Amino acid sequence: MKIKKRIALVAHDERKKDLLEWVEFNVEKLSNHELWATGTTGGLIAEKCAIKVSRLKSGPLGGDQQLGAMIANGELDILIFFWDSMAAHPHDVDVKALLRMSVLYNVATACNRSSADFIISSSLFDQDYEPILKDYSKYLQREF
Ligand code: PGA
Repeated sequence: MKIKKRIALVAHDERKKDLLEWVEFNVEKLSNHELWATGTTGGLIAEKCAIKVSRLKSGPLGGDQQLGAMIANGELDILIFFWDSMAAHPHDVDVKALLRMSVLYNVATACNRSSADFIISSSLFDQDYEPILKDYSKYLQREF
């Protein structure tokens, strides 16, 4: 993981206000990094926070899966995902899959503001950092 981090920003509708506030508060620090977001979240960030962000599809239309694929390909370092803990969503399985990818690939992940604050204020945020990956090579050698 390089000094310039690749950061994904996602928020469910009920949490978008929280994420926008968090991005606005940290806009200077975030502007040194590469930002990715699901469609609607990214549109709001670009509009309200005047920061460059690459937008994927909207979450329910595959954006969460795109982020999961980026993680599997080693293309994301940090996931800030303010998901709504009070409602079910049509793409709950995609949300679960994305969170699973972040755990599997040891991606620094925050699902609420406190955790996001801890990540962004960590001294590791502006340093090179190599996450330790579990050895899953036995999964490639299974015989059928
Ligand atoms: P959105 O998607 O940014 O397009 O609203 C977020 C999500 O529901 O995963």
